[in-house]
Amino acid sequence: MPELPEVEAVARTLRPLLCGRRIRCAEVLHPIVTRPQTPALIRELSQGQCIEAVWRRGKYLFLELKRGLVEMHFRFDGQLLWFASARELRARTSSAAGLHVDVIFELDSGVLGFIDPRHLGRVHVWESAGDCAPLSSLGIDALSRTLTAEALHAQISSSKLPLKEFLLNQKKIAGIGNIYSCEALWQARLDPRRSGNSLDHKESGRLHKAIVSVLKRALECCLDPAPDFSGPQWWFQGPEEILRVYQREGLSCRRCGGNIRRIVQGGRSTYCCLNCQK
Ligand SMILES: [Zn+2]
Repeated sequence: MPELPEVEAVARTLRPLLCGRRIRCAEVLHPIVTRPQTPALIRELSQGQCIEAVWRRGKYLFLELKRGLVEMHFRFDGQLLWFASARELRARTSSAAGLHVDVIFELDSGVLGFIDPRHLGRVHVWESAGDCAPLSSLGIDALSRTLTAEALHAQISSSKLPLKEFLLNQKKIAGIGNIYSCEALWQARLDPRRSGNSLDHKESGRLHKAIVSVLKRALECCLDPAPDFSGPQWWFQGPEEILRVYQREGLSCRRCGGNIRRIVQGGRSTYCCLNCQK
């Protein structure tokens, strides 16, 4: 599931391809991904509009239009493809491989396709950023300069949530998912089960440092090699190499040699070393 670093890498790589281009035609092939918005509304709000900027907030990708905003969320398997022409896209999607293209934005040059084999990803178009409900519900972006150690402490010290669940709550801090929350807590040597308000300044400072360092390191990996939008077989490889605890259940901790355990919190797997994470 793409988290902040993956979506940021997608935004940076797409920017030169999309900025300044006009959306000639928007086609929704699987209306479930735009619900409750209808294909007609998606067309009405996006067709003929120029893409002025491409940016990310939390795990969302936004295409800023001259008037309005395209919002995309990849959920588990959503991906973007870039084709030179609509003809190429149709040739690829009609192949036996079946690419499950959900939404197509045909630009004055090039075609952007949103694909998701399970159709769980989401694409919406809003008349203005103010209308975009997901955007207004997001907390401070995890890589934004406004997320200082002080700001994190203020947020975390007023939360009774276990640290792991606090980090996954997009309304508090936006952009961190299951993988990088495990990694940040391991790096900060904090027990994921502790409640937010049990952290002193020193500990929340350590967590802040760990969040920023884990996300920045992952982003570097996601940009080298940069996303390749030519087919669904492509996916980020680099970030796996920097993981220290995620999905290492039963293996020994790279810091203390203790046993990495998998515990379940809020229905999600947490990987941690309870020997050195206190
Ligand atoms: Zn350990």
